[in-house]
Amino acid sequence: MSNREKKVLIIGGGLAGMEAAIKLGGAGYQTVLIEKEDHLGGIMNQLYGSFPRWDNPQKIVEEKVKMVEENPHIQVKLNTTIKSVQKKDKSFVVELSDQEKIEFDAVILATGFGFYDAAEYGEYGYGSFDNVYTALEFEGKLKEMESWDKKDLPQVVAFFKCVGSRDRSKGYPYCSKICCMFTAKEAGLMKDLNPDTKCFVFYMDYRAAGKEYEEFARSVIEDKHVRYVRGRPAKVLPDNGKLMIRAEDTLMGVPVEVAADMIVLANAMVPSESTKELARMFEAKTDKYGFIDYIPGHPTQSGDRVFFAGGCGFPVESLGAQYQGAAAAAEVIALFNQD
Ligand SMILES: Cc1cc2nc3c(=O)[nH]c(=O)nc-3n(C[C@H](O)[C@H](O)[C@H](O)COP(=O)(O)OP(=O)(O)OC[C@H]3O[C@@H](n4cnc5c(N)ncnc54)[C@H](O)[C@@H]3O)c2cc1C
Ligand code: SF4
Repeated sequence: MSNREKKVLIIGGGLAGMEAAIKLGGAGYQTVLIEKEDHLGGIMNQLYGSFPRWDNPQKIVEEKVKMVEENPHIQVKLNTTIKSVQKKDKSFVVELSDQEKIEFDAVILATGFGFYDAAEYGEYGYGSFDNVYTALEFEGKLKEMESWDKKDLPQVVAFFKCVGSRDRSKGYPYCSKICCMFTAKEAGLMKDLNPDTKCFVFYMDYRAAGKEYEEFARSVIEDKHVRYVRGRPAKVLPDNGKLMIRAEDTLMGVPVEVAADMIVLANAMVPSESTKELARMFEAKTDKYGFIDYIPGHPTQSGDRVFFAGGCGFPVESLGAQYQGAAAAAEVIALFNQD
């Protein structure tokens, strides 16, 4: 079999999976990209804006989808999942949800991350009080608010960071890495919609380690006038149509009370159930939480002919997801050259 006849399966059509497909298809390998939804693009489709350059997320997706669709070596299968997997010596026979059976020489998992259930923090009222949103829901809310009259826009929005992350007692001990940045972005976008809305960000730490990140977050604070309060809110209580937040400003050493119209929770990113199931099917290595893990020396390989990219390995920003997609494609090509 010539190298170019080898077939690669990519599971998940977000930015990571699309990037891997574009690179493999571009190199002439037969690539099948399956996506469980009826469209490509993953979470980026749901975003209202993006850090660190305020780019339009839908445009980023559109450009990638076009590259995928124009590549004659990439076959996209929407509304498709994996039913079963049979491992052979140097391949997998995979049965898809449409009953089709295809033999693949390698697989790339690119199924993204899942989310910690914000309702676990009962004291913040998610699921029981109106106007408490997760950060992802708030991206949709921002879009919706575009068409609202100014008088109907919230006067005060409060953002809580590290909800379920860095919390050994209730959540996960790790830092979810990207929520400091998307919280700054969402607060900045709220200010763009209405400069008169007061935005408070309650934080334990402020992490902006990445190219242009510090400048981005600083501009949200200094140019858009978002107020950062160091402290973890203790409780939220409904009060006369408002959401009353009580916290301690640990920098100033004073108690703080904010009456908010909306609260946005940056809930932790966790391995999705779908990722865990696929890891079992393909015998991919996972870490103690269930994220796909790498084999030392092979940063995007997690098993025999099994590779991964993007949020299924750990929370990652969109550019990082694309880097990983490209890297996984390179590792697959290197493997084929050794076959
Ligand atoms: C609230 C929020 C705001 C963000 N803001 C920004 C930002 O401003 N800038 C930035 O750079 N990044 C941002 N991100 C991060 C960005 O969304 C991710 O980096 C990016 O979506 C990761 O791409 P991915 O391909 O790994 O995963 P995803 O986008 O999640 O794509 C995974 C795809 O796999 C599919 N899938 C899952 N399971 C299966 C299965 N079993 N079979 C078939 N298909 C499956 C899913 O339907 C999905 O289409 C934000 C994230 C969140 C949560
Ligand atoms: S990235 Fe920021 S908000 Fe997210 S868990 Fe880490 S410190 Fe908390």
